[in-house]
Amino acid sequence: MGEYEKKLEEIEKRIEEISGAANAAAVETLRREFLGKAGPFQDLMKGLKNLPPDEKPGMGKRINGLKNRAAKALETRLVELREQLGDDVSDLDYTLPGTRPTQGRLHLLTRTIEQILTVFQDMGFHVVEGPDIEDEWHNFEALRLHADHPARDTQDSFYLGEDRLLKTHTSPMQIRYMEEHPLPIQMVAPGYCYRRDPFTSRHSPTFFQIEALMIDKNITFAHLKGVLVEFVRGFFGRERKVRFRPDFFPFVEPGCEIAMDCPFCDGEGCRVCSQSGWIEILGAGMVHPGVLEYCNIDSKANTGFAFGMGVERPAMIRYGIDDIRHFYENDFRFLSQF
Ligand SMILES: [Zn+2]
Repeated sequence: MGEYEKKLEEIEKRIEEISGAANAAAVETLRREFLGKAGPFQDLMKGLKNLPPDEKPGMGKRINGLKNRAAKALETRLVELREQLGDDVSDLDYTLPGTRPTQGRLHLLTRTIEQILTVFQDMGFHVVEGPDIEDEWHNFEALRLHADHPARDTQDSFYLGEDRLLKTHTSPMQIRYMEEHPLPIQMVAPGYCYRRDPFTSRHSPTFFQIEALMIDKNITFAHLKGVLVEFVRGFFGRERKVRFRPDFFPFVEPGCEIAMDCPFCDGEGCRVCSQSGWIEILGAGMVHPGVLEYCNIDSKANTGFAFGMGVERPAMIRYGIDDIRHFYENDFRFLSQF
């Protein structure tokens, strides 16, 4: 057996060792050894010229075959190691304890919105969403907030040019819904609202409201009362008392303000309720006939109620939060408490 033949057999044996490589680093070392510039195949190919001519083609074929076997064995071992150890098969210490990923959760406001909507969905209300950019008709005019109304002061709203503004309340969705849907109507519309308010502990230029609207034949104030009492008890607890007081909003008649007994002092009076024993939570009323007529609904034959509420305030009451800014600063230390 010639020197040449011996070398080939040696390489063959060494290729078998590849399948025992302990890790990716060992595979890489072998890869350089076999297939790198200083590898054995280069030399063997050069040595071919010293062989008798009739042996050259056969020997060349054998060398290439071995080279392919080596490449294949390296690849196979790497795949095996990956399957056993996962993607990163370098010099990891697999006995080290892992890092626990931080568990994500829904933002407190998102959860509050979902909880409130669920109470209304359970009573048969559909959830609909409207645009953030409104025109003056939907945001003001159709709600009887006419040009001379104080709410129309351009200083209070974010105008985006002539007749375009960020909606200042969720009530425009009442109008949009009545324009597009036949009766009966029973919907809730959640959405962000935007007003030029300073960012303080009790006010935010961006806040979240939920609007509700129910219109059909023979809808009375009793329906409004029933729905709102059910909402307060469904969200704040069955033991809550609900108070209705007359109030004025241009788009309802009659209008009312709804409060519940303070859950912190059970109506005794405390800091949260400013010693009054009551906490105002929303404004409501029977939809003004003028608004129905603007939306081409016969106000002689149909009636309905509407109400709107902020979401931050109920969340602050329910979770004992004293500053509205916490909701919007996204400080993880605050958010992760809930
Ligand atoms: Zn109180």
